[in-house]
Amino acid sequence: MHLTHLECPRCGLDHPADKLQNLCGCGSPLLARYDLAMVAATVTPEQFGLRPADLWRYRELLPVADPRFVTTLGEGWTPLWHARAYGHEIGVDELIVKDEGLTPTGSFKARGAAVGVSRARELGVERIAMPTNGNAGAAWATYAARAQMGATIAMPLAAPTICRQECVAAGADLRLVDGLIGDAGREIAALVADSGGRVFDAGTLREPYRLEGKKTMGYEIVEQLGWQVPDVIIYPTGGGVGLIGIHKALHELRELGWVEDRLPRLVAVQSTGCAPIVRAFAAGEARATPWVDAHTVAFGITVPAPLGDELILTALRESSGTAIAVDDAEIVADLRDFAAREGLLLCPEGAACLTAARHLRAGGWIRPGERVVVLNTGAGIKYPGLV
Ligand SMILES: *Cc1c(COP(=O)(O)O)cnc(C)c1O
Ligand SMILES: [Zn+2]
Repeated sequence: MHLTHLECPRCGLDHPADKLQNLCGCGSPLLARYDLAMVAATVTPEQFGLRPADLWRYRELLPVADPRFVTTLGEGWTPLWHARAYGHEIGVDELIVKDEGLTPTGSFKARGAAVGVSRARELGVERIAMPTNGNAGAAWATYAARAQMGATIAMPLAAPTICRQECVAAGADLRLVDGLIGDAGREIAALVADSGGRVFDAGTLREPYRLEGKKTMGYEIVEQLGWQVPDVIIYPTGGGVGLIGIHKALHELRELGWVEDRLPRLVAVQSTGCAPIVRAFAAGEARATPWVDAHTVAFGITVPAPLGDELILTALRESSGTAIAVDDAEIVADLRDFAAREGLLLCPEGAACLTAARHLRAGGWIRPGERVVVLNTGAGIKYPGLV
């Protein structure tokens, strides 16, 4: 394993990676760091192509030392589909959808759960706990079951029923909360504090390894495009883990010397009903202020106060990207239009990225001929009431 330490992106303090860690003392999430020179000396990009089609093909860049702790259900290596008909319609001929709907548990949360649960097991965790908008809880409950680990999941009552059912099926201790994800977070914080160290807080960005699982989307996009970076990557942003992860992955690939010295422009998409990142980006702020009265059909991106706000905003600015809010009615219309034209039923969060692509192309921010990758973060069939 080439993991060396955990680094605080805010105060710069290093923390050891061989014991359980949550946030830095300064309150920031921690980032896993690797000896990339050693990685480059150990493996070449071509070798990945010979390995199994899951995210563990990037094991030199992942935090699990002993393969016995790898907990897997076959997550990763999801397809890139060229959306010719829909792309032509909106003036983006090179519109590519990465379909995370094919991931175990029906959302890309499985990537974070696979790596997060594996590393937690390796470090001796017996029970994890987290607040969730649904998909993360479903994924972590599922992978925890696979790892013979306990899981306590707190979820808003309004979250998709299927995610509750997945938690129950996986044997998790499910707590339904009459409120938003922040309220669920308070319940979990109290439970972890009272557990005397027996329950590990695996909430979004509260431990460093979920991010490592999600960053593999960035490696895959680049590898699947023949070790080329696209011009634009559009991501439905709630907690922002995927966006921060893709940004981190691109930097690692650059430092490894495996891609050209150019970053894709990263786009954070939010709903007009919950857009703290869009507001902070437009105002030029370094941090986001909490969004009041959050509501949207794209439940996975209903995060009024993301813990990773600084990291998200840095990734957007550093990549010359942008942040855009889209309307629920347009999300649903684009979801239907895309399904009819392309035969792929997206989740509303993925459809929000199409709406964003349409507006960004119409406004000229996306230029003719640019290659645009959109993340469909979950399976449309998890939201049967939407169409
Ligand atoms: C969680 C989730 C998101 C947002 O992911 P972040 O990485 O936390 O921003 C987007 N789409 C779906 C379907 C989700 O479940
Ligand atoms: Zn710090």
